Amino acid sequence: MDCRPGCGACCIAPSISSAIPGMPSGKPAGVRCAQLTADNLCRLYGQPDRPAVCVRLRADELTCGQTATEALVLLAELERATRPGPRSF
Ligand code: SF4
Ligand code: SF4
Repeated sequence: MDCRPGCGACCIAPSISSAIPGMPSGKPAGVRCAQLTADNLCRLYGQPDRPAVCVRLRADELTCGQTATEALVLLAELERATRPGPRSF
């Protein structure tokens, strides 16, 4: 699928461990990226200082859903499922 311009869910819901301009320690889950504009576009799109993880990301219906709201839910679930830490089994 093509990325939805103005969605921005993957710039909010997941954590990003690599440095982002304006966020040198990366980004916690659920926090808007410092480079995300008010209309949910990336200020660094096409720029050399855009993090590699963002350049590599591809839109996929499994994680992006049909709407930005759906993507926020799906990506938050994925974040919880892949968070490092003790397991309960
Ligand atoms: S969540 Fe998916 S559709 Fe939305 S901005 Fe990110 S890649 Fe694009
Ligand atoms: S740098 Fe751009 S693409 Fe990456 S999380 Fe921030 S706003 Fe999104």
